[in-house]
Amino acid sequence: LLFLALSAQAQRAGQHVLPALTAVLERVRAWWPQVADSTLALYRDLHAHPELAFQERRTAARLAAALRRLGLEVHEGIGQTGLIGILRNGPGPTILVRTDLDGLPIEEQTGLPYASRNRVERPDGATVATMHACGHDVHMSVWLATARFLAEHRNLWRGTVFFVGQPAEEIGAGAAAMLAEGLYARFGRPDAALALHVDPNLPVGTIGYVLGPAFAHVTSVEVTIYGVGGHGAAPHRATDPIVLAAQYILAIQTIRSRILDPMEPAVVTVGYIRGGTQQNIIPDRVELGLTIRTYSAEARRQILDALERIGRGLAESYGLPPERYPRVLVSPTETPSTVNSPELVRHVVEAWRRVWPGERIQERRPETVGEDFGRFGLDGQIPTFMFRLGTTPPEAFQRGQLPTLHSPFYGPDAERAIPVGLEAMVIALLSLMGP
Ligand SMILES: [Zn+2]
Ligand SMILES: [Zn+2]
Repeated sequence: LLFLALSAQAQRAGQHVLPALTAVLERVRAWWPQVADSTLALYRDLHAHPELAFQERRTAARLAAALRRLGLEVHEGIGQTGLIGILRNGPGPTILVRTDLDGLPIEEQTGLPYASRNRVERPDGATVATMHACGHDVHMSVWLATARFLAEHRNLWRGTVFFVGQPAEEIGAGAAAMLAEGLYARFGRPDAALALHVDPNLPVGTIGYVLGPAFAHVTSVEVTIYGVGGHGAAPHRATDPIVLAAQYILAIQTIRSRILDPMEPAVVTVGYIRGGTQQNIIPDRVELGLTIRTYSAEARRQILDALERIGRGLAESYGLPPERYPRVLVSPTETPSTVNSPELVRHVVEAWRRVWPGERIQERRPETVGEDFGRFGLDGQIPTFMFRLGTTPPEAFQRGQLPTLHSPFYGPDAERAIPVGLEAMVIALLSLMGP
């Protein structure tokens, strides 16, 4: 309905849409120098103080206070550390704009003057270094600058914006937690949801988008390989689960290469191996942690079946009884794939192309990383669009291998990327709620 109304409106308005959005972009550019210092100061502060999933109390409090100063109605503690700031401006569509809040357990090695030296205590009592290695500090800075621009330019738009600060993106749990604690039940369902994510593969100044499926379905699996423990000097009186695990890890590499359709996107990665205590003891089990990335339910089924089947076959070849066959445990918290609604993407990209030269906007391929932003779309009931924001200085592309997201060396060019993110988000919003 939103899109029928919008396209009818656009047809009536004809070329009037063009000068209006161009004027908006000029307003954003004229306004940015007034807020650049305070926005970048906030960015550096967030960058220096990353907090882990569901522990983002300082971060959430800073954002909540900033939104309150802008006059938004703010509710905190939704999905533990999540928050929403509601900006109402008369009748019109309701659009959700999401940022994520959390950092990662990584020790920063960028050498930046505002690099994180933060350490936090994990629930298990261990102390870990934390880093915003996924750019969520950039997302928060763009999100807050967008709220500020809209709050200070109410004459440019109509409707309601839900500024949602989502915790725990890195463990794929925060969006589900906010929805389970009544985000939509309490405040209503939005007509569309927008978000951005930094992208070190794109030069700063550019925006990337994917039409349709953009981020993969994430399944976490724990495999326990059983053996029969014994003395390291007498392997013939034991069944060694370390050797069995080694064979299993190599054997499951054939799932991707020999079992799945070559045209089907999928990843099977073993992220940890835990087994044994001492050189001269054959343990009785080894635990493996896997992440599986897929787009189709059929590929998912094939991978999980193969993990079971290969485990059974190897265990049997070692003479283990059925009760010692490997156990494949699929985590109940899966992250569904994030699908960008084609109609919404086309509408926003069209608006961007009206105000920016074409080369700033690049169509990208789907990726195998996961994102729980897609959950805000309630399985296709609400159109969603997450676009990518370039953060790498163009000159860095000549230097070869670039740091990826989640790398201790990832240092986005925030000074240049944040105003571009702001422009992109404001144009996207005002293409839906604008003059
Ligand atoms: Zn991440
Ligand atoms: Zn991220």
